[in-house]
This record gives sequence, structure tokens and C-alpha cells, in this order.
Amino acid sequence: QPLFASVEMAPRDPILGLTEAFNADTRATKVNLGVGVYYDDNGKIPLLAAVREAEKVRLESAPPRGYLPIEGIPGYNTAVQQLLFGADSPLLAAGRVATFEALGGTGGLKIGADFLKRLQPDAQVWISDPSWENHRALFEAAGFKVNAYPYYDATSQGVNFDGMLACLNGLPANSIVVLHACCHNPTGVDLTAEQWPRVVEAVKARGLIAFLDCAYQGFGDGIEADAAALRIFGASGLDFFVSSSFSKSFSLYGERVGALSIVTESKEEAARVTSQVKRVIRTNYSNPPTHGAAVVAAVLTTPALRQQWEKELGEMRERIRAMRTGLVDKLAAAGVSRDFSFVTRQRGMFSYSGLTSAQVDRLRDEYGIYAVGTGRICLAALNSKNLDYVGNAIAAILK
Ligand code: PMP
Repeated sequence: QPLFASVEMAPRDPILGLTEAFNADTRATKVNLGVGVYYDDNGKIPLLAAVREAEKVRLESAPPRGYLPIEGIPGYNTAVQQLLFGADSPLLAAGRVATFEALGGTGGLKIGADFLKRLQPDAQVWISDPSWENHRALFEAAGFKVNAYPYYDATSQGVNFDGMLACLNGLPANSIVVLHACCHNPTGVDLTAEQWPRVVEAVKARGLIAFLDCAYQGFGDGIEADAAALRIFGASGLDFFVSSSFSKSFSLYGERVGALSIVTESKEEAARVTSQVKRVIRTNYSNPPTHGAAVVAAVLTTPALRQQWEKELGEMRERIRAMRTGLVDKLAAAGVSRDFSFVTRQRGMFSYSGLTSAQVDRLRDEYGIYAVGTGRICLAALNSKNLDYVGNAIAAILK
């Protein structure tokens, strides 16, 4: 029997499948709200000026292309820690945090998951209902059983916080709980500053292992504000995991720039943990790539570039927020009676719009507007040119 004769075709990734269908659509007015990428007002993925400048300097210095250390660029890892926990964090002063450059946020999750599997082989993983679709697949691929805790409440367009807490408070010790640090994907609905300490309490009381996924720092309310959950966990005395990503905040999707940070009890413990995570990395991909992390480190540690980046990140954040307000206003002006103001309360690139799968189908068939079947739309795909078209189309199918 030939080697691959029994290999079946895997199901298509639903979101990538959507993009294929969008690309094949010949209508000039088509809009893809299904993506997970920030587009500027011209519908383009921006190359930030801060990035361009750092790349120019790097290229001109013509650095040799040796291997990086297994854990990545040290200056990059320090800059990541400062962004996540604050430059003056006692955690950093005490040397309690071990950080590893990783291949995007996904890479940070993956090396964290592989390390956890060695540490807690029998633990189960709990992700939010719903969550980024890759969370389940990634932790399952690492060998875990993956369950979901209650999160989104469609009736209130908010969080079912009582349900979430009740679930966490019923979990066995060492259960791994994946939490979105900010800008929840796919719903756009985050926990409040009052709710996070109660999650910390549950994690402490039950002896759970928190794994915070921070893929959108700066896309919600600002760099510092979006780190609120990390800071609350950081002050709790708990050990926990953080995966982080610069894909969105630096618009460096394809360069794969992210990190895994592990908060431990002490500097000595951080050193032991580091030695084990390095083994995980070594047997996966040996060591990470250089360019993206070198550029990010240069931007974060060069005051003029840092200032430029913060300004550009602020512009991306403000543009998304303007599109949220713009869409809500447009729907109201087009005579939609349903209250869509929840869209302006959501954070990050996404909104669970409340559109049904049948309505999503009609938007695609009748208007060439593509969204995920769950009704998730990407606000960063809206711009001053397509906002009216999209708003009117949604209004029309809601009538
Ligand atoms: N976590 C969440 C919640 C995400 O939305 C994403 C990306 N869409 C990631 C992780 C992965 O980020 P990266 O592209 O940097 O791997």
C-alpha cells in the first residue's frame, strides 16, 4: 500500500477558507470582515514608520547572521518583560520572570504548553467559551484534554462572570486556565478591573495554573491599561504563564515576533525553569529567528523610535474605536432599531456582532461582505470608504 494512500483531506481552516472565497469574489465592493489583521484606512496592512527606521538602521549595520541563544535576544526579552509587567516591577527586580523569545504568540503558547505537559502530564486545560479557535487545537496537540469555561453571555453581550467563577471554583488543583489578558478574541468582551482580582482569588483558592494570552496589548485602552490583568496577577504572588505577541501591535505578522514569560517564585527557580524550557525549544526549532525581535527590541529601547511606535499604535487603536462608533452611528442612521451600542464597549479588533449565521450568509451572497459564521467581525477591516456600504448592508439584512 502506498505510504499516503490512506491520508484523508483535513478540514479547511474556517477563517482561511473565508479569505479564499473572498479573494475569488469579483465584486469591486467586496469587504472581508473575517480577517484577524489590522488594516489602515486605505485597506492596507501598515508598515510602521518606527519599524521602517529600525529596519533601515539594522540593514545598514549589516550584522552577521549567527545563531541566537536558545532563549532569543536578551535585550528583546527584557523589553518584553518591561512592557508586560512594568519597567519598575518588583517581579523583574527580583529576577522572578523567565522570558523566551518565541515564534509569535502562537509559539509562546506552544512552548508553554509543551513545558506544562512535562510538568503536569495529567492536568486538563480550560479555555473560554468561545475562544481563539487555535487555543483548543494547540493544547490538544500538546497532549491535553481541553474543556471550556463559561465566558460570553449573548443576552447581555457581556461576560457570564458568575458562570465563569463557579466553573473555576469547581476545578481540580493544577488545572490550566487560559485567560485572554485583553481584547478577547473572538468576542471583544473583557473582564473588568474589579473582576480580575476575583479570578486571581479562584486561581489561588483552587491551586490552578493561569496561562494569560496577551496578543493585543495596546489595541484596547493603551499599553499600560491593557496590561492591567498581568499586573494584578503579577502582584498576587502566584506563579503563572504569559504568552505575548507583537504581530498586531507592531504590524509584524509574518516576522513571527512573540514571547513566553513564566513568573516563578524566585530567581533561583527561574533559572531552573529556564533550563527546562530551553530543552523544549531546542527540540522544537533550536533557536528563534533574529530580524523581527531585533527590530522590536531596537524600537522599544530607542527613545525616539519608542515614542514614534507609541504614537502609531495609538493611531491604530483610535482608528478601530472610530470604526466602532462609526458603525453604531451608521446602523442607527439607517433605521436599525436594535441597540448596537455594545460594539463601542467591546475592545480590540473584534466584535461578536450578534449577526446570525443566516445573516452572515446573506451579507456574503447579496453584498460580498464576508464575516465568520459566528458573527465575529473585524472592526479593523472597516475604513472611511467602506463603512457606509457595510453599515447599509447590515441595516438592510436586519430589516
Ligand atoms: N492568541 C490570540 C488570542 C490571538 O488572537 C492570536 C492571533 N490572532 C494569537 C494568540 C497568535 O498570535 P501570533 O500571530 O503572534 O502567533
